[in-house]
Amino acid sequence: MLIDSTALPPDHVVRTDVCIVGAGPGGLSVAARLAGSALGVVVLDAGAEDPEQTPADVHTQIEGTNTGDAYPTVDFVRSQGLGGTAVQWLEAGQSFGVRLKRLEEQDFRRREWLPHSGWPFERAELDPFYDRAEDAFAIGRFADDVTASSPESVRHPLAVGPLTAAEFRFARRWTLLDGQRAAFTGRSNVDVYTRATVTELDDSDTPGAVNRAHVRSAPGRGFTVEARWFVLAAGGIGNPHLLLLSNRTRPEGLGNEHDTVGRFFADHPAFNHVGVRLHDPQLVARLGEYDAADRGGVGILRALSVDADVLEREQLMHSWTNVHPRVSRRYLDTVDAAREVLSTLRERPLDAPAAALRRGGTIARGARAVFEAVRTGTRQHVIPSGWAQRPLSPRLFEPGVLTLASTYEQAPNPDSRITLGTTVDNLGQRQAHLDYRWSELDLRTARGTTELIGKALADAGIGELVMPTDHEYPDHAGTENSGHHPLGTTRMSTDPKQGVVDGDGRMHTVANVSIVGSSTFPTGGSANPTLTLVALAIRLGDHLRTRLA
Ligand SMILES: Cc1cc2nc3c(=O)[nH]c(=O)nc-3n(C[C@H](O)[C@H](O)[C@H](O)COP(=O)(O)OP(=O)(O)OC[C@H]3O[C@@H](n4cnc5c(N)ncnc54)[C@H](O)[C@@H]3O)c2cc1C
Repeated sequence: MLIDSTALPPDHVVRTDVCIVGAGPGGLSVAARLAGSALGVVVLDAGAEDPEQTPADVHTQIEGTNTGDAYPTVDFVRSQGLGGTAVQWLEAGQSFGVRLKRLEEQDFRRREWLPHSGWPFERAELDPFYDRAEDAFAIGRFADDVTASSPESVRHPLAVGPLTAAEFRFARRWTLLDGQRAAFTGRSNVDVYTRATVTELDDSDTPGAVNRAHVRSAPGRGFTVEARWFVLAAGGIGNPHLLLLSNRTRPEGLGNEHDTVGRFFADHPAFNHVGVRLHDPQLVARLGEYDAADRGGVGILRALSVDADVLEREQLMHSWTNVHPRVSRRYLDTVDAAREVLSTLRERPLDAPAAALRRGGTIARGARAVFEAVRTGTRQHVIPSGWAQRPLSPRLFEPGVLTLASTYEQAPNPDSRITLGTTVDNLGQRQAHLDYRWSELDLRTARGTTELIGKALADAGIGELVMPTDHEYPDHAGTENSGHHPLGTTRMSTDPKQGVVDGDGRMHTVANVSIVGSSTFPTGGSANPTLTLVALAIRLGDHLRTRLA
């Protein structure tokens, strides 16, 4: 049942077996697994059933401050409401929503040269759950799991030397959520409460075990949920934030005896300023598989990755590199200029005519390129898609030049962290503060991977790198162009001093709390996180069904 918490009587108490905080892909996957069991399940989410209806003052709960290296604002990478941040998954053209891939075997192993690397288990442990997660997303099976097949057996254009063409699949934006809702429908054991912000997990009765969650539906108005087990599924920033706010019995926050909560914040920074000038411009016509396209009902594309053995030898972390024809400068300048005029119109209408005059020339010069993008239906968000399906317009793309749009894994870094800030939200609670840090290893990976790709393409006679200007190259200021994958902040470790949860996602120092989400990832690895976190959530659902039966 879906319940709007604002309609509950004051000081209401809900009693249940399992209380899940967060109705994103992680929390709802656990709940869907428990649907139909003998366990009572309550899911609590701060946002509304229709995320668009979440009031602006509730949005202040995901805002926060941000210092350190360049990163999007902390509310940019997460959302509230039923479906969580999944509401932001693109639905470009007709088939592309969320981009998915399994992590590789190498991602789970300890890398001697990478401090804090290594998951508590091998990938084989997750494989059966990956299968079920792929079913939940309805993406079929990955045709060539790159770790299972020798790179020699997967030869695609550009997959030369140490380069492999890894397959990514796209699920439609709502497939997962629709399936989860169908699992609850008609089941009396799962209740989902919206507009329900958990402000504290309270272990004051029996320190070391949480007895109740304090929940607010509005300032000064709230209720309590008492449960046998709690699952924290509030996202990569929300998970550490709630633990730090839960400081009734310990000022450092729940489960933070070893000062690990909130540390090791990482993402998958993205960088797309490196180009390749092709020796044969006609090669572009054979690169269609690097463009996302509907293949047998599923959106699929390939991206370049570097063979794991070579990464290990060179001591570089993982990355994946999308390849597409380089979008013309004129088009990009025009879009920038139009955006600037529109935002001036919105924010300072009196200055809009001056802005239009200043930028009008650029907009006029590139108008035909924009018209071409609209006419051909070429999407320019994040990476262009649809470019391989029709002749390339030279107004829109630079002939014979490719862009390498790379996304990198980051080194686990204890100094990169979430803490409680000094600003407050609509409930008077301290907002999250992010101090994001790039490390030397991150920069080495970005530069080293670019050099490897450049050398492989040059050796194969394909083309030469077109390097970005110093201004464009990532440096200590980093890049704001992140993968929107906050991770690592309640990391898994077998050692309670090195991590917040164990290999099952259970908190080391709190008896009855599990955490699910990318915050538990020890390292970010070679893929977007959601397939892995949904696999972990299904695995946790199985555990809870058995443990609490
Ligand atoms: C623009 C964008 C594009 C993305 N594209 C991809 C992609 O292509 N592939 C991919 O794998 N990943 C992608 N991601 C990341 C993906 O969305 C996340 O990995 C995923 O949503 C995380 O799921 P989650 O359930 O752990 O957390 P979330 O989806 O963030 O859900 C957390 C939920 O918890 C709720 N919550 C938080 N705190 C509280 C509290 N105290 N009380 C009650 N409720 C609370 C929030 O309201 C929210 O609904 C993208 C992200 C963005 C922003």
